[in-house]
Amino acid sequence: MQIFVPDRAYVEPGALQYPMGKEILEKLHAMGVEILETTSHNQIRGLPGDTELQKYRNAKRTLVVGVRKTLKFDTSKPSAEYAIPIATGCIGHCHYCYLQTTLGAKPYIRVYVNIEEILQQAQMYIHQRQPEITRFEAACTSDPLSIEHLTGSLRRLIEFMGNQPYGRLRFVTKYHWVDSLLDAKHGGHTRFRFSVNAPYMVKQFEANTSPLSKRIEAACKVVRAGYPLGFIIAPVYLFDGWQDEYTALLEELSRTIPSSYHAQITFEIIQHRFTKPAKRVIEKNYPKTKLHMEETDRQYKWGRYGIGKYVYRDEQQQQIRALFEEKIANLFEGSNIEYFT
Ligand code: SF4
Repeated sequence: MQIFVPDRAYVEPGALQYPMGKEILEKLHAMGVEILETTSHNQIRGLPGDTELQKYRNAKRTLVVGVRKTLKFDTSKPSAEYAIPIATGCIGHCHYCYLQTTLGAKPYIRVYVNIEEILQQAQMYIHQRQPEITRFEAACTSDPLSIEHLTGSLRRLIEFMGNQPYGRLRFVTKYHWVDSLLDAKHGGHTRFRFSVNAPYMVKQFEANTSPLSKRIEAACKVVRAGYPLGFIIAPVYLFDGWQDEYTALLEELSRTIPSSYHAQITFEIIQHRFTKPAKRVIEKNYPKTKLHMEETDRQYKWGRYGIGKYVYRDEQQQQIRALFEEKIANLFEGSNIEYFT
């Protein structure tokens, strides 16, 4: 897996007023990336491709460097109070990824260079809530580690939060490029979570992400560097042999992560589900996907705005829960586990 070198980059002129904008531009020049200008990071026109599919694929290889104008943060319940906006879009091609629906016509990789203004806003939210702890999620709209070599934003966030007695940062990643963050002054205030899954899932549905073994190796590095660690296993998907593969995955994690760290690990287990609009988008972007999304095989769960989701049936949900509960309790004594349907 090679680090991401975009095929082209669009830069807002205003972005070059900021140190990060200038640094990114220098890196792009050094990489030989074609640089184009855009008046707004919201409107990228003229992406190459004769079909929608080609345009989608090319968008995911396009970097957009802009200034975040709206500094009001979205909420990010239940795992954090706020989503901290540093980037949108992702280089990965996970068939099930919800960004396909949430980002809609903007699947390109967009990074915001006014990081100091974003941090000032975070500081204000922390002050408003203290002495309560305020948690910020940095991966709601992208996988920020996949573009850290271009932006350095995560390191900036991690070190900022390291100095905040009442602030915490968390993010999730499917990439392994952690080396530039190992010596960051994190103060134990950033929880690194790795998204892992059964090998069948990684092979079938997670194109252009780091191999599972690399993610686990990276998890070992960050926990040894003193970061709080978590694993997200999502989506848990029922395929032939799922119990064996998920069991083997948990055993491998338990063997590889030194046992002295097991009690501090958090697990988030999220079962596979889909909405009708998401199914349509997935079938458009990944027409050959083997992701099974048959409404009649699932149970309908009412959702907000009238868009319900199709989840596994109660008995299947109980099987999933029983498996993870038993294995995690045995393999990671004292760890924390949360389920999401
Ligand atoms: S790595 Fe994460 S954010 Fe990127 S496509 Fe896959 S699921 Fe989506």
